[in-house]
This record gives sequence, C-alpha cells and structure tokens, in this order.
Amino acid sequence: MPQLAQRVGRAKPSAIMVIAEKARQLKAQGRDIISFSIGVPNFLPGEHVYAAARESLSHDSGQYGSNRGAEPLLDAFLKHIEALGFSGYGRMNLSIGIGAKQVLYNLAEALLDEGEEICFAAPYWTTYRDIADIVGAKINVLPCPSTQNYKLAPAQLEEALKRKPKVFLFNNPSNPTGMVYTAEEIAALADVLVRYPDTWIITDDIYNSMVFDGIGYHNFVFARPELRERLVFVDSVSKTYGMPGWRVGMLAGPEVVAKAVTTLNSNHITSVPEVITAAAVAAFGGPQDVPQARCAEFAAKRDIVVTALRAIPGVICPRPQGAFYAFPDISVAFGKSHNGTPINSDVDVCAALLEAKGVACVPGSAFGEPHSLRISYTCPTAQLQPGLERIQQFFAELQ
Ligand code: PMP
Repeated sequence: MPQLAQRVGRAKPSAIMVIAEKARQLKAQGRDIISFSIGVPNFLPGEHVYAAARESLSHDSGQYGSNRGAEPLLDAFLKHIEALGFSGYGRMNLSIGIGAKQVLYNLAEALLDEGEEICFAAPYWTTYRDIADIVGAKINVLPCPSTQNYKLAPAQLEEALKRKPKVFLFNNPSNPTGMVYTAEEIAALADVLVRYPDTWIITDDIYNSMVFDGIGYHNFVFARPELRERLVFVDSVSKTYGMPGWRVGMLAGPEVVAKAVTTLNSNHITSVPEVITAAAVAAFGGPQDVPQARCAEFAAKRDIVVTALRAIPGVICPRPQGAFYAFPDISVAFGKSHNGTPINSDVDVCAALLEAKGVACVPGSAFGEPHSLRISYTCPTAQLQPGLERIQQFFAELQ
C-alpha cells in the first residue's frame, strides 16, 4: 500500500474538535452538557445579508469569479479597513479567500520556503502551528505565560527577530486568551519591528470589532507606517458578522504579497462564490448594529466569567478585553485529585470537568500553554452562570 505524504502526518486533528466531539457524544447519551469549547459566535448576520444573498441568486451568473475577489467586495473591504484606521490601500493591496484560515495558509505558502523560520507567541491559535508544519517551516514559539498577561514583551520579540525569522505572526485580539494590546504596547512592539527589515509581519486580527473597555483596535502600521511594505493584515467576516460558515476572509498588504496570494488562489480555489461575495459586501456595507450589540453583550459576559473564575482560590485569570474567550491558569489543580481521579495536567482537568460536571473547555496545551484552559463564552447567557458554578464546584471538590 502506498504511503500518505509526510505533511498529512504532521497536521494533527484539532484538539478543540476532539473535546467538542466528546461533548456531543455525552449529550447524545442524554447528559446535560454546557459547552465552553467552540469559538464561534452565537448570532447570525442581519437580515440585509440574507436579502443580498437572495437577490444575488436571482441573477446569478453561475461563472467563475476573480481570483483576487470581486471588485464590490474589494471596495467594501477597503472602506472597512479605512474605518479601522488603515490608510492608503487600494484594490491591488487586497486579496479575498475562503475564510481567514485559507488566507493564512496561502500566506504561509507565499512567504515561507521549507526550513525557513516563523515565530509567534504562545498561547497561539492552534492552526498556526499546523499551517507552519504543513509548509515545512521551522517554528519558534515565544512563551507568554499568565504572569505576563499572555502578552508578548518587546525584549522577547527582539530576541526572536535577531534570529532573522522569515515571518513574525501576531494575533490581536487573541484567540485563545482574549487579551488585547493597547496602543502603547503595539507602538513598543512596532519600534522593535522597524529594526528588523528581513522579516515579514502578519497580523491576524479577525476579532478587531470585538474590543471592550474603550481600548480600541491598534495595528503596528498605525504606530510605524513604514512597516506597511512588509506587513499583511488578515481579516474575516466570520466573527464580526456572525458568518463563520459563509467562509470569507481577506488580507490587506503589500501589492507583491496580495498578488502572490491571488496567484495561489487561482490554483487552490479560483474564486469566492458569487452569492457569498454578495453576502459579504452586504455585511461590510450594511448597518453595523449587530456587531456593536454583540460586542456590548460579550463585554458583559466577560465580567461574569472573570468574576467567577477569580473567585476560585489559586486560579489566575488575566482580564480579557476582547473576542469571547477567557484563559484561566488552572495549574493550582495539578497534583490533586477529583473523586479519586488524579489531576496532573490541563488535559486531565478538562477530561474530569467534562465527565464529572458536564462542562466542556479546551485544554491550554492545544494552544501551547499547558497551565491553562480556554473558556469560550458564546453560549446563551442563561447557561453561563450554571456552567461557571459547576467549574467552581469542581475546584472546591479537589483533594
Ligand atoms: N484566526 C483566528 C485567531 C481565529 O480564531 C480563527 C477562527 N477560529 C481564524 C483565524 C479563522 O477564521 P475564518 O473563519 O475566517 O477562517
């Protein structure tokens, strides 16, 4: 029997999906499960998005579209990024793909030859490691534990850049931690980045509309515009507009990169479907009340989650200021046991929590931080308090 390619062996099934699957199985057995495991928004886009999709279907061409993305979508995205604070970008700086995930994969293919180095902070979104593995890149992970609020420090970045990595990948607001960098923190990192011209910078900032406490969204190019020539900003309609299943992501960056990714699109996907494009244009161009209302709702839920987690003795929970995740350090549980089950790792905590209390969380090791676990608080508010109470009980019962 012939062998599969080695790159398939390197790509591991997502740990998030493993927990979600186990939770689904327990639910099917009739167990009352509260899921804090999956990072998808619990809302749908506004009616104008569906209306635009229906309207598009009524005169669908049925044809392939542009490899870069249809002009109305490029223009809608341009307006969107201008409102965020990016200026001086045109259509040739953009490329649209099937979700930010595919855009990031394209970028890895476009920027990294086999054996070249990519660096990113941990905790990181699980897929970063998998994408780098698939293209055969060397990975330098920069550990950012709870003691530094899971944020990358300028000195740490400097050390990493001295190795002349080909790519520095950055994520703000963060999945899995929900942490958001302030304007000052971004400026301090940007001051380091300008000194290392051999490194491409990717900012995966798809949660940019979900920032709380008035701290706003900031990018390195706002602080140091000269970084524009080697920085690629990645965005998506998934989280902002409650459209993860519609699969539209995009980038804004140097023309040469947008062109390379567009060429890869021509080989991988050809184009984003017409009906999906129409829906994304409507999302960007339509009323922004859905994302605004959801952001306020998530900020309120964040308060409930952080208060409950901080009430557990020994659990450390840096205060997230964006997205819809909290990432408590639960290592206080290690070396203890629950109903006779020994707890020695984040995976043990998540397994025992799911089994004993019916609460699904994702082990932090999936994100490169094995002292913590990820709580995604997109569930209905009515489930939030009971779920958190079950976590509190679990920790109170540890021996
Ligand atoms: N980046 C981050 C940080 C994410 O959390 C996700 C989705 N979970 C993505 C990218 C991919 O988003 P999309 O749905 O647009 O592929």
